[in-house]
Formats: sequence, structure tokens, C-alpha cells
Amino acid sequence: MRRILQLLAPILLLAVAAPAADLTVGTATARTGQKVTGFIQVPAGVDTASNIPVIVINGARPGPTLALVAGTHGTEYASILALQKLAQSVDPADLTGALIVVPLVNLASFAQKVPHLNPVDGKNMNRFFPGKADGTQTERASWAIAQQVVEKCDYLIDLHGGDLDENLHQYSYWANTGKEAFDATSRALVLAFGLDHVIIQDYRPNGPNPLDAGGATSLSRYAERLGKPAVVAEAGHAGTTHSEDIDALFHGSLSVMRHLKMLAGASSPVEHPLWIARITVMTSEQTGVFYPLAAPEAYVKQGMRIGYVTDFFGTKVWDAFAPVSGVIVYIGAVPSMVKGNTVAYIGELQP
Ligand SMILES: [Zn+2]
Repeated sequence: MRRILQLLAPILLLAVAAPAADLTVGTATARTGQKVTGFIQVPAGVDTASNIPVIVINGARPGPTLALVAGTHGTEYASILALQKLAQSVDPADLTGALIVVPLVNLASFAQKVPHLNPVDGKNMNRFFPGKADGTQTERASWAIAQQVVEKCDYLIDLHGGDLDENLHQYSYWANTGKEAFDATSRALVLAFGLDHVIIQDYRPNGPNPLDAGGATSLSRYAERLGKPAVVAEAGHAGTTHSEDIDALFHGSLSVMRHLKMLAGASSPVEHPLWIARITVMTSEQTGVFYPLAAPEAYVKQGMRIGYVTDFFGTKVWDAFAPVSGVIVYIGAVPSMVKGNTVAYIGELQP
């Protein structure tokens, strides 16, 4: 026995002294205690290549891996700036576990100031997960992020905001998947994020889900399918970069990290969230010039006028009457309006 222990001793020592695993994402490999920048490379295919920036922060102590992604919509600026601030401010010496930070997925949208879509292929970069290796750029980028980011994380935070044409306050999404333990975990993450309006996404196998039309798969929904709890949070609107929006996303992310014991200190969960059980998407019946008459977070009664559309001569051609009573989650921010486009999201509160 003693002889065996003597033989084993150097091996046991080695095991204890061995560094925690390196973490590689794209071209960035961070050893324990390191912060390294690099790129998730999306090779050229049927269209151009892309190099998506990534920051890998490998903490001083082993623990969970949290992915933070922003800018799948490249003109939702507050979310992009929030992740830049986060990547700059987290010191690996203070961190337990690791962060994979992707502050700007949709580089062409950002560069060309094109909302909603990737101008390279005209696709929404938050609808095609897990993507495919031989598709158009959005699909190849989604494929790369699925392999490099989602596969390697335990939890995921996806940050958004009102796009160039959207006026919204701050809210997060919680997905009700019908899996009790999983849903309890993700619910705690969403509450830890701290925003007081929470939209419930009904992802139960037989539940109606008006936000997920056409079988499209968002980043968070793909992560949830792989069993990785996710938070989606939105702040900012219409191209603005107000510090109150950036800080809400920045501090919310830090609070989730504290909840996961990745940083010291207590998380600061929201105490009295407003749960929004159902979203009604209101679309315009006319093309023309949109005039909003309500602001985000306003409570409107069914039948109340929340805006109107004129033709290009200034004559009113349509009144936007609220189809349901609820909270205005988001409303059109600019005069451009096309028949069939979204005028507002109205959220019905959980009874
Ligand atoms: Zn977005």
C-alpha cells in the first residue's frame, strides 16, 4: 500500500498542480487567469467572409462558462456598447469560471447602418440557428456561433434593444419551455438580470407562440434546446446610446454573474416584476407616414388610438386602434410605414 502511494504521489501532485483547461473560441485561446481577444472566422462561401470579434476571459478559478452576445442586430447600439464595457471591466483575477463575450455579430449591419437584417444576404441574424456551414453569410455565421459559442457555454445572455425604427423601454424575455427544473433556473437568471418588465415566451410543445412565427430559431431558443438556460434582455431605442440603457444591460449581466457565483457579492434581482403573458403584434393597414400617439410602457385600453398613418399629402388614411388592452412594449419610432409592417407590440399582463 505504502509503495503504491509513493508511486502515485507524483501523479496526484501533478493533478493538483495542473492548470485548469484553456478555453479556445475562434482564434482566441485564454489560459487560466487570462483575457484574450480574437475572431470567430466565418470563411467566404456563396458570399463574403466575416470576422466576428470575441473576447475570452478565463477566470482564476474553475466554474461555469457564460456566453454574452450582442449585435445580431448591428444597429441596436446600446447592447453592443454594454458588452464592450463588460469585456473591458471584468478582471480574470476576480472571475470564477469563464466568459465568452461577442459584442457585435452583425458587422455589415453596424457598418452600413441597416436595421433588422444582415445586408450581405438580407437575412435576420437571430432567426437561423444553428445555421449551416455552406449557407449564406448569416447561416455560416450562425453555424460558427453555434459551434464556437453555444456549444462551449453553460449559460447564455443575448442582448438586444429597440432597433433604429423601434421605440421601447427595457425588458427581458423568459422562456416557458414546460420543463420545470430548467424553467426555474432560467427564471432565476432573468430575475437576477433585474429588468422589471418580463415577457413570457411560450415555448411549451403545444403552446401558442406569436413571437416565433415560421419555425425560425433564435440564438436563445437554440441554446435552450441544447439545455442551456438563457436570458434575452433589451434596452435602448432608435439608435440612441443613453447611459441608463447601457448600464441596465451592463449591471444586469454582472448581477447574473453574481447569481451564478462567478463574481463575489450578491446579485440584485428585481423584486416585483411585471409579467407580460402575451404579445399582440399590431401591423399597419396602410402605407404612408406614421405618427405615434403613445409611448412605451403606457397602459392602453382596447380601442384606444395609439397612432395614425397619413398618405404622402398629409391626409389621414388610417387610425391605429389598440386591438387589446395592455402595455405598449414597443411602438414605431420613425415616420416610415409600410402596409403590413409592425406598428406596436402590446403586452397583456399575466392575470
Ligand atoms: Zn435585436
